Amino acid sequence: MTTTPLLPNHLGGQWVTGSGAGTPLFDPVLGTELARVSSAGLDLSTGFAFARDQGGAALRALSYGERAGLLGAIVKVLQANRDAYYEIATANCGTTTKDSAVDIDGGIFTLGYYAKQGEALGTARALLDGERIRMGKDPVFQTQHMLNPTRGVALFINAFNFPSWGLWEKAAPALLSGVPVIVKPATATAWLTQRMVKDVIDAGILPPGALSVVCGSSAGLMDQLQPFDVVSFTGSAETARIIRSHPAVAERSVRCNIEADSLNSALLDPAATADSEAFNLLVSEVVREMTVKAGQKCTAIRRVFVPRVLYDAAAKAIGAKLAKTGVGNPRNETVRMGSLVSQEQKASVLEGIAKLRLEAEVLFDGNGAALVDADASVAACVAPVLLGSREPAKAKLLHEVEVFGPVATLMAYDSETQAHELIRRGEGSLVCSVYSADPAFIARAALELGSAHGRVHAISPDVAASQSGHGNVMPMSLHGGPGRAGGGEELGGLRALGFYHRRSAVQASSAALDVLAASAVPFKV
Ligand code: NAP
Repeated sequence: MTTTPLLPNHLGGQWVTGSGAGTPLFDPVLGTELARVSSAGLDLSTGFAFARDQGGAALRALSYGERAGLLGAIVKVLQANRDAYYEIATANCGTTTKDSAVDIDGGIFTLGYYAKQGEALGTARALLDGERIRMGKDPVFQTQHMLNPTRGVALFINAFNFPSWGLWEKAAPALLSGVPVIVKPATATAWLTQRMVKDVIDAGILPPGALSVVCGSSAGLMDQLQPFDVVSFTGSAETARIIRSHPAVAERSVRCNIEADSLNSALLDPAATADSEAFNLLVSEVVREMTVKAGQKCTAIRRVFVPRVLYDAAAKAIGAKLAKTGVGNPRNETVRMGSLVSQEQKASVLEGIAKLRLEAEVLFDGNGAALVDADASVAACVAPVLLGSREPAKAKLLHEVEVFGPVATLMAYDSETQAHELIRRGEGSLVCSVYSADPAFIARAALELGSAHGRVHAISPDVAASQSGHGNVMPMSLHGGPGRAGGGEELGGLRALGFYHRRSAVQASSAALDVLAASAVPFKV
């Protein structure tokens, strides 16, 4: 077998190839080797110091408005190279063009959004948090809270499912804040991240050290982190535990954001009928969520709650739509769902389905049909599987096991209160969607479920055409979730800048605060 070349890393302001044979990246549909990655032998300590000292200082020398300009320039470079990104995504992620767009264009859109938001911050170099507050009787001595960009690096350890969006949704607020970025993409799909960083570096947009990429093993990365650095991790709960307990976080107070797994829900109003619009909207969204990116979305609907009388009708309607999903080689235009990212993920999804089946019945399984243009013994394809439970209150695994693929479980509930309780058994999720024509039902769901979710997405007939989608993460809305979802917060418009700034209270005379205010801008989120 021929060995493919190693993708170079960019660290310390230069391109460096790791040592050794490296880890191969594969085409998950054809099984062919595409490239290799290695971070072995990199001088991490010098590379992190270069980013922190050179990249950070150069970024901080610019205003928010100037850094927003850099984001706008990155958007242009990425747009100019879109075709290459689509080719890489098809080859390395096994995604259809539509699914690649969620990652590639989603990333570019998010960057563009922050470029616009940042422009409005103008020439400022810090953010004012709230109004001045008097400290005593004499109004001359006051306190002003402010946010200053942290003087460290932002390390991103990312998941395999969004090699583009996962980078840019984090890098946009970090760079806008003036904080240099070092990204470590998940190995299986690292190529797209590496190529995008390469294009941006080659275009000479950013100061040296502002953007670095390390592909391959994560060994030693966390050890580099110092008190003013931040780490943003997206991935499994298991790895999240390792990150959280690392001495950098546990002892050096490195700020840490975690986006982990999640058992997101969809809830149908008990007032719905099988021919109501709310019912049809739920069915379409569940099918979309199960099949987009072959269900490899942290926000995908995993648990579907319907009133008991509609359980059979929902199973039939969802199954009928899923049956139309052609699965196979994403290069074939009739294919609606490509493959999982690797054979490891295929094995993990099949294992997960077997686990859920201990507590659920199979309502639909598309795996009997032949793959389109793909060899089932080679391709990492798994067709959609809809499971079901008429007694979800008695289930345990159904509320605990996230199967990261085209799999969801339909569940019958008996009352609105019980539905809310069952949804909260996910112990903290990224998103819950609610399908109802009744604004009061939606408002009750938001009050009951808001504290357990990063986002409550309500779909009523009046927003059917304009709604942004259960699983789509929009830059103006918060992304993250409490509890098992990791407890993190990302995006939410300018709120995202908070993670990359340190808040402090400046207690001083009005005269001094006036001077300070001239180089800052109110932080309005
Ligand atoms: P993972 O195995 O935890 O890997 C995530 C990242 O951590 C990868 O870059 C991985 O590198 C790295 N890593 C592995 N071991 C590490 C260690 N000991 N120290 C530091 N880094 C380490 O997760 P995954 O399988 O890629 O992603 C799937 C999971 O991510 C799913 O559970 C999904 O729900 C979750 N997810 C959540 C969100 C969200 O926003 N909440 C978004 C997407 C995905 P290697 O690839 O080199 O091992």
